[in-house]
Amino acid sequence: MSELQKSEIIGTPALKDVYIGEMDMWPFESPEFNRIYPFYDNLRAGKFTTTKCKQCGHIAFPPQVICPKCWSEDLEWVELPQRAKVVVLTETQAGAPIGFPSPLIIAWLTFGEGAPLRHLLVRIINCKEGELKEGDEVKFVTFNVPAHPAEVKKETKVCDRVYYAFEPVK
Ligand SMILES: [Zn+2]
Repeated sequence: MSELQKSEIIGTPALKDVYIGEMDMWPFESPEFNRIYPFYDNLRAGKFTTTKCKQCGHIAFPPQVICPKCWSEDLEWVELPQRAKVVVLTETQAGAPIGFPSPLIIAWLTFGEGAPLRHLLVRIINCKEGELKEGDEVKFVTFNVPAHPAEVKKETKVCDRVYYAFEPVK
């Protein structure tokens, strides 16, 4: 089977499983392509994590390979809270980009005083139109992303992929 045929078989449901690699919007998550791959391994294990600088203590999100404050490469993985409150949100009810079902909800969350990360801009899933309001509690959730074939040392490798969002606490 040619590379093109493989690419055509694995794709986003919105496009009836047919799309080209250039339209892929999700990161490659394997160690061959991504230096923050432990973030995705942690997602697969149900953990929401990021990097903390061992030199200056700065916690960055999304995870980094170099501290954006002091340029140190001496970083460690730390867990982030899995519950937050909605500060403000937007709902796109019509005209969401391809691959995103309506409503497409994006929220600015707060983890509260003393949390390792104060705020996060994130997609909300498993939520009906008009269901979520400012001040509501939401929780971390992962979902599967279509696999993408990638060439690794002349072999085609198909990696399972995962991504994160938040959902309403019911
Ligand atoms: Zn630092």
